[in-house]
Amino acid sequence: MSTVSVVDADALLEGLNPAQRAAVTSAASPLCILAGAGSGKTRVLTRRIAWRAATGDLDPRHVLALTFTRKAAGELTGRLRSLGLHDRLAAGTFHSVAYAQLRSRWADRGIQPPTLLDRKVGFVARLLPAAAKDVPAVDVVAEIEWAKARMVEPDGYAAAATAAGRRPPLDPAEVARVFARYEDARRERRLVDFDDLLRVCRRDLLRDPEFAAAQRWRFQHLFVDEFQDVNPLQQALLDAWRGDRLDLCVVGDPNQAIYAWNGADPEALRRFPKRFPSAEVVRLTENYRSSPQILAVANAVLLGGGRGVDRGGALQATRPDGPVPAVHAYDDDRAEARGVARAVRDHHAPGATWSAQAVLVRTNAQIPAIEEALAAGKIPFRVRGAAPLLEQPEVKAALADLRRSRGTFDEALADLAASVDEAAGTGDRAEERRANVDALLQLARDHAAVEAAPTVPGFLSWLSSTTRADQPDRQGDAVEITTFHAAKGLEWPIVHLAGLEQGLVPIGHARTGEALAEELRLFYVAVTRAERELVCSWAAQRRYGTRDLRRERSPYLDTVVAACAALRAGTDPVEVGKGVATPAPASPPTRDRPHRRSRTRPDLPRAAGALAPADLDDDGRQLLDALRAWRTEKARAAGMPAYVICNDRTLVEIASVRPATPAQLLGVHGLGEVKVNRFGDELLALVGEQRG
Ligand code: ATP
Ligand code: MG
Repeated sequence: MSTVSVVDADALLEGLNPAQRAAVTSAASPLCILAGAGSGKTRVLTRRIAWRAATGDLDPRHVLALTFTRKAAGELTGRLRSLGLHDRLAAGTFHSVAYAQLRSRWADRGIQPPTLLDRKVGFVARLLPAAAKDVPAVDVVAEIEWAKARMVEPDGYAAAATAAGRRPPLDPAEVARVFARYEDARRERRLVDFDDLLRVCRRDLLRDPEFAAAQRWRFQHLFVDEFQDVNPLQQALLDAWRGDRLDLCVVGDPNQAIYAWNGADPEALRRFPKRFPSAEVVRLTENYRSSPQILAVANAVLLGGGRGVDRGGALQATRPDGPVPAVHAYDDDRAEARGVARAVRDHHAPGATWSAQAVLVRTNAQIPAIEEALAAGKIPFRVRGAAPLLEQPEVKAALADLRRSRGTFDEALADLAASVDEAAGTGDRAEERRANVDALLQLARDHAAVEAAPTVPGFLSWLSSTTRADQPDRQGDAVEITTFHAAKGLEWPIVHLAGLEQGLVPIGHARTGEALAEELRLFYVAVTRAERELVCSWAAQRRYGTRDLRRERSPYLDTVVAACAALRAGTDPVEVGKGVATPAPASPPTRDRPHRRSRTRPDLPRAAGALAPADLDDDGRQLLDALRAWRTEKARAAGMPAYVICNDRTLVEIASVRPATPAQLLGVHGLGEVKVNRFGDELLALVGEQRG
């Protein structure tokens, strides 16, 4: 039985609000927890398992906890262990659990296991008709995966794809034919792809009563996190695991549904109460992750979102005040990457860990530039992602071409540059593929710029040492770099969102209302990862291969900027979300509310480091001198280098903004709660003296 004693049960209810407690202890089955980001859904799910174990209501060895990534599964297991559950607990992804069950069935029945087909793109490429040889196979694979996730067979594909507004790279009837050939060829050679694991596991559960009984005995209590991202195939498998029992608990947030393009069915969460009339639905309304300032921005983003968001999802803050999120504009992407690195360093308070910070971007192609800038700044980092740049099929293909090239490095580079358009092809993801190959090209150019005699093999080994996932400091304390998608469910005290530009956020290929709604939800996911500080940035120019393209700020950033201005002015930031991009009324300059940076637009702070002492007026320069003298004094007294007290940029910003209250000080770059508590009074006094 469980290793947790009943005496501990009450302790498991500590640190929960009444609604969370009700959810943990509810006797209802099924149970559905429907709540926004950071409201404690995952906390409730794990506590519920532990509490039911502690009260003898379940045996943890019969629990199956499902999530969507291996990382999330590991986190679940970790949290459950820390709650005292040491028994073998099954927490995994749908795929990992299905595969494990199938393998044991094959072994028990003496069935020769089929081979796992993990190189689908090449396999499908060979099945394309001659007339479609230019169509990227990866796009056709995406259609096949989408169909399989929705349990659509080849003969139903064309109708289903049309009804769903898909934009396949070939005529839908042609995709259906390739899909049919794919399934035939796969079966002939006894191959199963990733999605087949779910399908075959379900099929065997339905066909083989003995197998079903064994699995249903093993897993009697089912829990699913992030239920908004399940697809119909996963739901069908879940039903097969469940049988006719109702011991099921699902948690999710409709506003974080970000995989509909992959075949997920966010409606399943909304339909849940209808499907299970005995289900109890619990809603959580308080947010425990983010500062009120970050939450205000997140709520404004949601409310500005039009269709496709649940406007009832706005959350109340419970955490202490933090700084108003910062928005930085940079001249170009390289300046942005350097700016991000600088901001990461500025936010690295003495004694703090690097892992308190994450840099999140929309696409894999943006990651190498950030990696490089952090590496140049000697900041340890780690890249997390479902599919980092070098794993992308088009990048793999380009690397294979490079490996085969026999000429000089310059010739190889020229070939690579010439192949970008070809590699990109057409269709929905063409821009993304182009950007990925461009990112590779950019890396090759960077390599050529630093190497006296660059060679292709030299570049390839440099690549694997700089961008591979197993760098030496990957395991230790490090800043996390990842995509918005891969950040789902995670949290960091300080989050940097880079590349917030039209074309990336929302992504260029999102054109339908639904696709745009999903992009907005994705941005909401990104914003709500931050606990204390959020730093947003974009670049006015971005390099794609040899071209430098002018960029526009993301329209979502307009909402962020307006919400931040409202926060500074003390008006309701959520109101700004209701009229997207409507600038908040400027606050009148009064003695109490100092006039902000007269030379910059008040709603658009300048790039990190861009505000120079020369930008200050005479009074400002005088104040800066006083601030620097104060810092020297402090540093000497504390026996620390001056920059540990405050960096110059912070002082320049204070001299420019002239904060009058601790809250305004918190809005200054580089001043967190700790510093404001420690030095706030002295700094305000200095500003006050200067004001005279
Ligand atoms: P997401 O939608 O992003 O997955 P979530 O709803 O699953 O978020 P959790 O990750 O469970 O939220 O909780 C967010 C943070 O708030 C965690 O650090 C968690 O430990 C903390 N938390 C949750 N509930 C409480 C509470 N009642 N008191 C204090 N901290 C809490
Ligand atoms: Mg969660």
